[in-house]
Amino acid sequence: MSKVNNPCFNFENTYINLPKSFYSEINLSPVKKPELVIFNEDLSKSLGLDNEYLKSQEGLEILAGNKKVDGGEYIAQAYCGHQFGHFTMLGDGRAVMIGEQKVSKDIEITKKKSNKFDIQLKGSGRTPYSRSGDGRAVLGPMLREYIISEAMYNLGMPTTRSLAVLKTGEKVYRESVKEGAILTRIASSHLRFGTFEYAANYLGKEGVKILADYAIDRHYSHIKDSENKYLSLLEEVTKAHAYLVAKWQSVGFIHGVMNTDNMTISGETIDYGPCAFMDIYNPETVFSSIDVHGRYAYKNQPNIASWNICRFAETLLQLIDDDEEASIDMAQKVLNKYTDLYFENWIYNMRCKLGIFDKEEENKSIIEDLLSMMEKYKEDFTNTFVSLTYKKDMDRGMFITSEFKGWYENWQERLKSQGKSLDEVYELMKKSNPVVIPRNHRVEEALKAADNGDLTVMEKLLCVLKNPYEYKENMEEYRQLAEPTDLPYRTYCGT
Ligand code: AMP
Ligand code: MG
Repeated sequence: MSKVNNPCFNFENTYINLPKSFYSEINLSPVKKPELVIFNEDLSKSLGLDNEYLKSQEGLEILAGNKKVDGGEYIAQAYCGHQFGHFTMLGDGRAVMIGEQKVSKDIEITKKKSNKFDIQLKGSGRTPYSRSGDGRAVLGPMLREYIISEAMYNLGMPTTRSLAVLKTGEKVYRESVKEGAILTRIASSHLRFGTFEYAANYLGKEGVKILADYAIDRHYSHIKDSENKYLSLLEEVTKAHAYLVAKWQSVGFIHGVMNTDNMTISGETIDYGPCAFMDIYNPETVFSSIDVHGRYAYKNQPNIASWNICRFAETLLQLIDDDEEASIDMAQKVLNKYTDLYFENWIYNMRCKLGIFDKEEENKSIIEDLLSMMEKYKEDFTNTFVSLTYKKDMDRGMFITSEFKGWYENWQERLKSQGKSLDEVYELMKKSNPVVIPRNHRVEEALKAADNGDLTVMEKLLCVLKNPYEYKENMEEYRQLAEPTDLPYRTYCGT
């Protein structure tokens, strides 16, 4: 890789200070002809980067990994993971971190506060962790990650972000010949549960300790002086994931591949592979083509998060206490809090969706009764809440049944009993119920057009997804469901 002077990055790299076994230094081979497909102007500005420079030829050479920025440290990270329940050695097989961008103060560009962000090129070529893979990525899936991660951010979900997608000018061989692409991913760090599993399995107690101290310093510095900081780390991560998954559930987001290598220590959503948003409410919904047993179905996400946190907890046991029994006991006490933490987050999100301000025993059954009617009458998840919020499209389906009318009266009674004005109720509902989500057929349509060289469909979709909680006239067509087909929607990962 040839070097260029550092034009705008403010790198303060720290990951390379970990023992060398945590990463591999990478010398990328250049791609043929980098060409910009989409660039995130707002995100770039927030990161203190120079938009015009990054979009120039030299900037694109950097985002393609053809030129190395002076001061950057090009590394692939080592990690393991439980994939569909099975432990495996993994690592960045097709991604390279170029550096850690330091900004002047804490910002929330991932919906988590941080003043430092990893800049990573995904699809940039082979690394020592590529196994039999080609290290490459394909245009469609990288644009899909861009669209969905940006939509998630605008929906208020903690998430990694997408700075740019480039075409590489090279062919990539999948089930057919595809266009190669590289996505620039931004994260408050790429530390995963799997990074800890790697340390625990290959580097011993000292390795886990170094990593845990690093993670605390980067994400949870307020616990660094706590009595048992490793137990506190477990608690913070547990809280972050209870919060995250409850957020996902509240908008019908299905991650699709909740392997421990795809779970961040920061609690940001990462790895937009086979994810998709649920349309018709059905808790059994699965989109991923490889998830044949429905392990990562919508209804399982909260429990899978808990299972994943247990795998994370196991890596910390040797640090929590020298006495194994005592350590297990302490960790178990933290893990036991997950169910309540998740429930608190879930019920909070759901009651906001229904304009309920106060905590009452009855809220749970109001929410659950609505959900079971939605399931029974096959109502769209997002649009049901839009109907309730804007009193729209209620002359059909579930809404005209006597069952619903009974529920509605009950709900209205609940609203009246809380001493809030109806304006306040509906304001809360508007803030809590997105009008638009990246509907699968809309995403597919945008990707198909982009594949044929027309980016306008995607640009329009991204524009609508920018303000999902503001009802605008131009959203109508994005609220509609796809024409019914006999085939379920399927997503694919690792493409
Ligand atoms: P994912 O399904 O994207 O979470 O990837 C799981 C693992 O496979 C990670 O270690 C990736 O780096 C690796 N991987 C996925 N696609 C490729 C590829 N085309 N070449 C090399 N490694 C890959
Ligand atoms: Mg992954």
